[in-house]
Amino acid sequence: MARCAAEACGRWCPELLVRRGVGTSVDGFWFCSKACVEHMARRRLIEARPVAAGIPTVPPMRLGALLRHHGLCGAEAIEQALQAQRGSQLKLGEQLCAMGAAERQGVLRVLAAQAGVGYLASVDVAGVREGPGGLSPHAVRALGLVPISGVEEGRIRVACPAPVPRRALSALRRLTGWVPEPYLVSDDDWHALVRNYGADVDEDAPGRSPAEFVQTASLSDAAARIAAAATRGRDTTVTEARWEPYTWVRVQGGGMVEDVLLARATDTGSNEEVPCQAATTSH
Ligand SMILES: [Zn+2]
Repeated sequence: MARCAAEACGRWCPELLVRRGVGTSVDGFWFCSKACVEHMARRRLIEARPVAAGIPTVPPMRLGALLRHHGLCGAEAIEQALQAQRGSQLKLGEQLCAMGAAERQGVLRVLAAQAGVGYLASVDVAGVREGPGGLSPHAVRALGLVPISGVEEGRIRVACPAPVPRRALSALRRLTGWVPEPYLVSDDDWHALVRNYGADVDEDAPGRSPAEFVQTASLSDAAARIAAAATRGRDTTVTEARWEPYTWVRVQGGGMVEDVLLARATDTGSNEEVPCQAATTSH
């Protein structure tokens, strides 16, 4: 006999019927119905713990001080840039470049060294049109990471603007099992990469479609989507990662991959535990 793993259910079912395909197996647990999978999905969305930010960085020195230290621009230029920033809302590095007071590559190099990651002075925008890594362009936007290579020996190169989104990197690692190698790019290059990622993917070509992707701000909707995806396959796995303001759930099984991205749910319900938001202060 198999027993439904949903807490509130616990229904028994003869093994013979389970083998014939009654119910659904998720992560090795048997569920009698889609409603019970949905119940499980809801609990997991609520209880998902925030991912760790990975290796902590050394206390960051201010960019202006670093640039001065490396002789990349003078104190006066930094003072002017800080003032101009108030009107322009640009990041300090971008502001200095816009004023012609610093070289973009120098700023990138300093920011990358500070974050302990690599940087790319120029990017191959055409190379991401095929959507390396097979993520949805929506997932790429939410993560703030653009895969710029295929997966090689479990590693994937990703581009990001400063500051390095460390929690998103941890989430990507947990959800896909890949080890992401981040490279800083300029804000302009970043926007070009995002615009082009996956633009040439033919979703109808066999084996070429990126992961199915749904983004929602409703916990109930997210749970229903997860249950629908999980019950479509026979033996599926569900993996979740939370990094504010997102909870990303990946459902996989039988060659199917579906990503459900829940963005700051408002309908967690008064009788349900409110998702933990205390442990999310940024590094
Ligand atoms: Zn059940």
